[in-house]
Amino acid sequence: EKLDWPEKVKKMQSDWIGKSYGAEVDFAIDGIDKSIRVYTTRPDTLYGATFMVLAPEHDLAAKLAIPEQKEAVEDYIYKSSMRSSVDRLQDKEKTGIFTGSYAINPVTKKPIPIWLSDYVLADYGTGAIMCVPAHDDRDFDFAKKFGIPIVQVISKDGKEEELKEAYSQPGIMINSGEWNGMDSEKAKNEVPELLEKQGIGKKTVNYKLRDWVFSRQRYWGEPIPIIHCEHCGTVPVPEEELPLLLPEVEKYEPTGTGESPLANIHEWVNTTCPECGKPAKRETNTMPQWAGSSWYFLRYVDNKNDKELVSKEKAEKYLPVDMYIGGVEHAVLHLLYSRFYTKFLKDIGVVDFDEPFVKLFNQGMIGKDGAKMSKSKGNVVSPDELIKDYGCDSLRLYELFVGPPELDSEWDDRGIDGVYRFINRFYNLIMDNKNKTVKATEEMVKLRNRFVYDITTRLESFSLNTVVSGFMEYNNKMLDIAKKSGGIDCKTLETAIILLAPFVPHVSQELWSQMGHEGSVFNNTWPSYDKEKMKDSEIEIAVQINGKTKGTIMIDANASKDAVLETAKEAMADKLTGTIIKEIYVPGKIVNIVVK
Ligand SMILES: [Zn+2]
Repeated sequence: EKLDWPEKVKKMQSDWIGKSYGAEVDFAIDGIDKSIRVYTTRPDTLYGATFMVLAPEHDLAAKLAIPEQKEAVEDYIYKSSMRSSVDRLQDKEKTGIFTGSYAINPVTKKPIPIWLSDYVLADYGTGAIMCVPAHDDRDFDFAKKFGIPIVQVISKDGKEEELKEAYSQPGIMINSGEWNGMDSEKAKNEVPELLEKQGIGKKTVNYKLRDWVFSRQRYWGEPIPIIHCEHCGTVPVPEEELPLLLPEVEKYEPTGTGESPLANIHEWVNTTCPECGKPAKRETNTMPQWAGSSWYFLRYVDNKNDKELVSKEKAEKYLPVDMYIGGVEHAVLHLLYSRFYTKFLKDIGVVDFDEPFVKLFNQGMIGKDGAKMSKSKGNVVSPDELIKDYGCDSLRLYELFVGPPELDSEWDDRGIDGVYRFINRFYNLIMDNKNKTVKATEEMVKLRNRFVYDITTRLESFSLNTVVSGFMEYNNKMLDIAKKSGGIDCKTLETAIILLAPFVPHVSQELWSQMGHEGSVFNNTWPSYDKEKMKDSEIEIAVQINGKTKGTIMIDANASKDAVLETAKEAMADKLTGTIIKEIYVPGKIVNIVVK
């Protein structure tokens, strides 16, 4: 929640983890002292449970058959046992048999029939389900087929309706005792707890996320530090022997037998048990690539440290990662595992933050001719050609200019021409003006501060294409001023070079030394701006006579109304014939003089 990540990625992760609440509910069996436990993700629909279905293999299946049904039930159980699970689940037409027994719905206290059907599998959940035909397609079909009552407990507007199919949307709870009127989504979350309080059920938490195999049968991968001993079982490699390194080998191709290549390296595999000292073997599987990719970034800030993963000081200074840039394809793998690892490392006290990447930025893809670039489509743009013709600074700048970085963009071969021309114009501007000792005018100072401000703010908001257009814009302004004032001051020129350096490093470095500096342009700090100096001290406003614009005047931005009107009247003296009857000043915008 607190992460500055694209919403899309956050949603993908939470869907992937798939946390949901459910409940285990016990249904007492009418007439005998036994109950049937079901697991449900929809305990909110409990009032609508009008029957139960057990898997034919359920322990109680045969026992629940009343004498009149005994033969039919046993026959059904036998037939089901002859069919595979896949067949059973794929059947379009559901089959079933009534046992003759009833369970008691724990909230309505009404008896509900217990059926057997082979679409319920014994190894799924408890092998028994509660059926809510009004809100589940499969239960609906079953109830219709066998004439079982359907009780609606959620409705769109709180009114009961004739259901032609199961209603699976959220809505308002009805026919549900004390839950009536509740929002069904709210009920979904709260009912498990209510049931637990009433002693009817138990709240459970479920995840869609499954365990994932961690071992790989290949050479490249961190070896798993486990030793297999005949006497002691699996024994961890003692901590002082960590890290366990891969053996140096000449061949690391897969064995072809499905066994890890490490298994063939006897001098590595054979070791002694750290516990009993007898001969033992090392684990030969290695870790998957994401074992390391989930925390590699922590090492970047302290990669020579052989005592700890990362020192507290360095971690404090540099981590967590401020901005992480990567494709959205990593959303539920790398980006999720990295978070798990970081949370674990925080729990064991290795780091003191619990999220690895403060800000995540998913870059878009650049396509060509309306398609993703690919070799097979033949629409790949070769950077070599472009670098030969335009230089790598042009290519780099055009790549930034091609579109907002978070969106997919279309490559346009002609676009690089414009960028190339801009770099040339900038180069010429510097070369033409570097030796003119022009004193900075107020206009130049204002332009310089605004230039730094615009580039800095656009850069900070990661709007890189507008950074590039900003350079073009300000380059034109500098050219105008240089033309008008016979040159431009060195500080403004140098500021422009420093601002451009990260984007066109080669040209900038060249121009930096042309300005007479030794060393790298990158030794400079990022230029700062002064907001006060960005303000217009003089502004131009229009002067109207009887609503028609007759001219403009320059006034001090802070001038008083009287002073402005005075200036306006002076400027318009020759046009003001007749008597002035009204003088209007809209501050900073316009003066209107009404005459008769
Ligand atoms: Zn041992």
